[in-house]
Amino acid sequence: MKPFEYVAAGSLAEAVSHLDSAGPAARPLAGGTDLLPQMRYFRAHPPLVVDVKRIPELRQLSCVGEGLHIGAAVPLADIAAHPDVTRLYPAIAYSCSLVGSVQIRSRATLGGNLCNAAPSADTVPGLICLGAHAVVTGPAGRREIPVEEFNTDPGKTVLGTGELLVEVVVPPPPDRSAVSYLRFTPRQEMDIAVTGVASLLKFSEGGMVYQARIVMAAVGPTHLRARRAEGVLEGQRPTAELVSRAAEEAAGECQPISDVRASADYRRHLVGVLAGRTLLKSAEAQGIRV
Ligand SMILES: Cc1cc2nc3c(=O)[nH]c(=O)nc-3n(C[C@H](O)[C@H](O)[C@H](O)COP(=O)(O)OP(=O)(O)OC[C@H]3O[C@@H](n4cnc5c(N)ncnc54)[C@H](O)[C@@H]3O)c2cc1C
Repeated sequence: MKPFEYVAAGSLAEAVSHLDSAGPAARPLAGGTDLLPQMRYFRAHPPLVVDVKRIPELRQLSCVGEGLHIGAAVPLADIAAHPDVTRLYPAIAYSCSLVGSVQIRSRATLGGNLCNAAPSADTVPGLICLGAHAVVTGPAGRREIPVEEFNTDPGKTVLGTGELLVEVVVPPPPDRSAVSYLRFTPRQEMDIAVTGVASLLKFSEGGMVYQARIVMAAVGPTHLRARRAEGVLEGQRPTAELVSRAAEEAAGECQPISDVRASADYRRHLVGVLAGRTLLKSAEAQGIRV
């Protein structure tokens, strides 16, 4: 690891000022479960790291009328165990509970999972399904960005110099809807997704699919929506045949690569399997038998 400077910011203004004056190579530090291994193995060498865990706005976790507010530095273990999250946003709680191990989840944060911009990040597909947005602050003030548009390439986000993520806001789940997330890993714990899929289904009163969202992980440079597959489902009564057609369509929409974890073909196959299963799970959660 190369030498670097460390500061612990006590406020948003202090963090922004440090990050801005140190330039684009400076990095915020949350749980450090991604950043520190990257520094240790020379994949990142920031001259300055700004610890953001003491900033009060980044530590808030609350569920109010307009949705769920998750401070960027809230540990995943706290999110997974929060009673409002488990009750109203079970797919978010579940995806947080999948990350790493007990030790990792006690350090790792949702902000770090998003800002690390790994296409395999487990918390992101559910957030995109639910239409979450990121609240960012920086030298030019505050702005909001849909989570779907936040990551632009592996390891790359829309954040500019001096900007940091403050919180992620998840709107209230739509009526008569459910979201499910499933991933495939060869091991039960301490592994990252070979492929993951989250599916949202919202039904009309008559049991037709009013809205579908399918988001795929680890099969493209960023998390990808399977828009053609969503179109197969919308406006239709869900049947096993329709779900299979949508799952097949999703498999055709992903852009996997082959690497040490899996071949592109295997990942494509997994998208089909996981899309089908998550769609069935979401329908079942709404009492719709397919
Ligand atoms: C053993 C192990 C197992 C893992 N298993 C999984 C897994 O199953 N699923 C999974 O998705 N991930 C997994 N990970 C990856 C990692 O734990 C998660 O991505 C975690 O959520 C990162 O959060 P963090 O707080 O540790 O981020 P950090 O390492 O502190 O930061 C990650 C990146 O985000 C930036 N950042 C952090 N906070 C902010 C902010 N507020 N504003 C702007 N930028 C910010 C940092 O500068 C850095 O670039 C694993 C890691 C390890 C070491």
